[in-house]
Amino acid sequence: MNGNTFLKVIAIDGPAGSGKSTVAKMVAEKMNMRYLDTGAMYRVVTFYLIKTGFFEGGAIDIHSALIGIKLDFENDRIFLNGKDVSEEIRTPMVDTKVSYVAKQEEVRAFLTRMQREIAERGNVVIEGRDIGTVVVPEAPLKIFLTASIKERARRRVAQLRSKGIEVDIEKMKREIRKRDEIDSSRSLAPLVKSKDAIEIDTTTLSIEEVVDKIVRLAKKRFKEHGRDVG
Ligand code: C5P
Repeated sequence: MNGNTFLKVIAIDGPAGSGKSTVAKMVAEKMNMRYLDTGAMYRVVTFYLIKTGFFEGGAIDIHSALIGIKLDFENDRIFLNGKDVSEEIRTPMVDTKVSYVAKQEEVRAFLTRMQREIAERGNVVIEGRDIGTVVVPEAPLKIFLTASIKERARRRVAQLRSKGIEVDIEKMKREIRKRDEIDSSRSLAPLVKSKDAIEIDTTTLSIEEVVDKIVRLAKKRFKEHGRDVG
């Protein structure tokens, strides 16, 4: 792909619980764009490794695991080898292992390539940790979402509770801090704000406020690039 080609992509990065998924999905809907949750892709690989006994010193290595994985997407659902695993990948078990898996070079190369291919088809809101820095550095709009650790833990606990999973808030804070630490300090594609990203602290904002802000920015940016965005 020519580096100068305009890619109609909105990159949304930020730590766990900053509101990325909810906001990105709603922005995609309002802008009539597709939506890609890259965290879900790392979660599926982690889920597969758990299932195949990798963490018990098991039979499979990462390279063979990746060969056995076929990912498909349909709206906000993600499929592993044809099976919808969108719910199963959001358990505390996957939470505790996913940052370790996301540090692995081969896993990142495998998923980044796939994400890049989707980005190149354009018209997509992509959320994750390294979208504005590594996956689509030329995205015309990059957003970096943050929120206080207390608020992020509160959101995650509420999310899990709505699925019938109870987790202590203090435990969740520790887990999120640990995940932030691993995600931000890894050598490959760490979680950092891209210099040209717009930071939005969502701690005291409603979802609608954040979504409206991003939609306004996106319409402006796309217009500047001479695109008809309706
Ligand atoms: O966004 P979510 O919390 O579902 O992401 C799960 C994990 O996947 C993150 O904690 C991070 O370790 C990894 N991830 C990543 N790069 C991305 C998206 C997610 O390393 N682009």
